[in-house]
Amino acid sequence: MDLTTVREIRTPSRRDEVVFAPGERPLGGGTWLFSERQPGLTGLVDLTSLGWTPIERGTDAVSGDVVGIAATCTIAELLRLPADDDWAAHPLIDQCANSLLASFKIWNVATVGGNVALGLPAGAMTSLMATLDATAVVWTTDGGERRLPVATFVTGVVQNALEPGEVLRTLEVPLDSLRSRTGFRRISLSPLGRSGTLVTARLGLDGEFVVTITAGTTRPVQLRFDELPGERALAEAVAGVDCWYSDPHGAPDWRRAMSARFADELRVELGRPAPAPSATAGTGAERTRPHGEPTHDPRSPAARALTGTPSPTTPTSPGGAP
Ligand SMILES: Cc1cc2nc3c(=O)[nH]c(=O)nc-3n(C[C@H](O)[C@H](O)[C@H](O)COP(=O)(O)OP(=O)(O)OC[C@H]3O[C@@H](n4cnc5c(N)ncnc54)[C@H](O)[C@@H]3O)c2cc1C
Repeated sequence: MDLTTVREIRTPSRRDEVVFAPGERPLGGGTWLFSERQPGLTGLVDLTSLGWTPIERGTDAVSGDVVGIAATCTIAELLRLPADDDWAAHPLIDQCANSLLASFKIWNVATVGGNVALGLPAGAMTSLMATLDATAVVWTTDGGERRLPVATFVTGVVQNALEPGEVLRTLEVPLDSLRSRTGFRRISLSPLGRSGTLVTARLGLDGEFVVTITAGTTRPVQLRFDELPGERALAEAVAGVDCWYSDPHGAPDWRRAMSARFADELRVELGRPAPAPSATAGTGAERTRPHGEPTHDPRSPAARALTGTPSPTTPTSPGGAP
């Protein structure tokens, strides 16, 4: 839609041009910014003009080898990231990209950083990055950088940890996370609906088991265990979550119940022996369709497998409504 209060869109080419006057905001792909009224918005600073390399490999002093995903990397570009042979977590990229409402319509423009910075509970790039223990690299206003886990970057509904004038620059994904086994479950009240809850689990190379809950909660929740927990320990941890989200896409008690069920399913799933390497190698063999190709029919078996909804044992909605 036209944003009639916007007077200027600036296109910086250098970092020192990334400054914000009162009323100005960063522009990623604009798929949210241009989708609704933005009271008080007077200007936009288009981060895509900075020409950041969408994806590059590097070494981070804290987390070791990482894949750096620029905030301006589009979801479509991320979907085209080829997997190393040992990237067991690679299918999670596809699963999360397909979890965005009408995902294929926005993939080519929406940015990974825009999704995370927006901070919607159903921000599936937040789900992906939090599951992979990614680090958010933030450009500070003094010309420096600071780093924090993506899981704590989103602090509430459309709220994040950025200070005024700061910009999300990069999301650093540890290679070890990509080598971990992951599991994925999602449910919504209707086949094309926004995520009611999205639960992932990751079994680290060191045996750590991490459940990440998004969409069902107002901010990402991570439940971490040194090793695969028992059923009761996991149930108690989920019961301790205190930020279940309530909106037209799901009641808090339903979100809590489905999240608990999914977490336990994933505990059982990842507790089984790992499939043979060829099945998890991320070579593409396990994929049901090529990278970036939209899932046109959300009720098809392929789409159901990708989105995790609805599975034969998972009701589409409480009480069987559509
Ligand atoms: C049909 C449709 C379906 C959608 N479904 C979903 C959905 O299921 N879940 C969901 O979460 N969203 C959804 N959205 C909203 C939006 O499209 C996505 O969240 C998208 O990923 C936002 O990315 P963007 O690059 O377009 O962000 P923009 O619209 O450019 O920006 C979003 C916000 O983030 C800020 N921002 C952008 N980049 C940065 C940065 N690098 N640093 C700091 N701040 C930044 C902007 O100032 C703005 O406040 C949907 C939108 C449409 C039109």
